[in-house]
Amino acid sequence: MSFVETQERVALRAAVADLAGSYGWTYTQEKARAGLHLDELWRDAGKAGFLGVNIPEEYGGGGAGIYELSLVLEELGAAGCAMLMMVVSPAICGTILARYGTDDQKKAWLPGIADGSRIMAFGITEPDAGSNSHKIQTVGRKDGAEWVVSGRKVFISGVDQADAVLIVGRTEDQKTGKLRPALWMVPTDARGFEKTQIQMDLVSADKQFQLFLDDVHLPADALVGQEDAALAQLFAGLNPERIMASALATGIGRYALDKGCAYAKDRAVWGQPIGAHQGVAHPLAQAKIELELARLMMQKAATLYDAGDDMGAGEAANMAKYAAAEASIRCVDQAIQTHGGNGMASEYGLGHLLAVARTARIAPVSREMVLNFVAQFSLGLPKSY
Ligand SMILES: Cc1cc2nc3c(=O)[nH]c(=O)nc-3n(C[C@H](O)[C@H](O)[C@H](O)COP(=O)(O)OP(=O)(O)OC[C@H]3O[C@@H](n4cnc5c(N)ncnc54)[C@H](O)[C@@H]3O)c2cc1C
Repeated sequence: MSFVETQERVALRAAVADLAGSYGWTYTQEKARAGLHLDELWRDAGKAGFLGVNIPEEYGGGGAGIYELSLVLEELGAAGCAMLMMVVSPAICGTILARYGTDDQKKAWLPGIADGSRIMAFGITEPDAGSNSHKIQTVGRKDGAEWVVSGRKVFISGVDQADAVLIVGRTEDQKTGKLRPALWMVPTDARGFEKTQIQMDLVSADKQFQLFLDDVHLPADALVGQEDAALAQLFAGLNPERIMASALATGIGRYALDKGCAYAKDRAVWGQPIGAHQGVAHPLAQAKIELELARLMMQKAATLYDAGDDMGAGEAANMAKYAAAEASIRCVDQAIQTHGGNGMASEYGLGHLLAVARTARIAPVSREMVLNFVAQFSLGLPKSY
């Protein structure tokens, strides 16, 4: 692992920053507040190859890795244009399909995921199971060559934008006990598939939904990977998810910190810029250090993942997600504090970011579940739950 990014990666950062800069925070906010999606930015990012940078070249992607995809999302976030669906469609679903899909499934989905013309959401969370995936109750049974899937999901992002949702469930034979997952691609226009938007206290172009699957009939090839032991498939998607959640958080952190520092250099109430007061400068410096540490762990996780070390990447991805969420929250909070009253004025666009940054402490995996993982697997402590 080199601590100096290659010229290709530096150039990719610059190209993404350039595109994102032409949209910027105002575009994102106006769309989100109007209940609209970032369609134009998504389309342009897809056309430029940014959304599919990790998808294999033979299926229309850039043939690079999660490192590059996370870099894209970080730069978008740093310009005030974070796009949550990048975590889901190319990172989770794109990775699972690229690694475990059949050639037909890859041909059908990957080119569209790569250029952004097709979106796949991801549904694992259930109302009664929550963080305990072993309690997942969504079940698929065989009916001739077809699958018939029923269950409920909650907080599923971007279903209104998606062509399908990759649903994590279990087969009828594996209805109870330790999760032996099955993954089905469920079209969002399938009969028996219903979505209801959840009102969230987030200003975001990406919405969350509750899903009801009532005997949804699916063809045999809706199943991705093995029908009763798709744990490897699931984990193939979860590490990229955590790395991308880190990228989302660090991007937002960078955006907030830039705004905080710009304000601290400009605002003067005692005859000098407020940034000259250590009470303002030190917390900003501390936030910067914590953000850089989180970025480093994210880059380590992405490097390990792209090198094929799933186990090593798992530990680093969990730690990166933890650190990035905490650093991002600190950056946003300190940017708000630096702005004084303006920190809460809509014109400055920071107040609402606290809720967005705060979300990374909960999703896609909560701070407590990361701490459980580290306690058990990194420190060898007894399992606590
Ligand atoms: C904006 C947003 C977008 C999301 N998008 C998606 C999506 O696209 N797809 C999807 O599948 N899900 C999505 N989620 C769901 C998200 O992954 C879950 O909310 C998260 O995993 C936590 O699950 P829960 O809400 O059921 O909390 P619970 O499991 O009910 O946990 C509640 C609290 O208890 C703590 N807790 C639970 N168990 C333990 C334990 N053993 N030890 C210590 N503490 C514990 C948790 O850390 C948490 O603080 C999204 C959520 C949000 C907020």
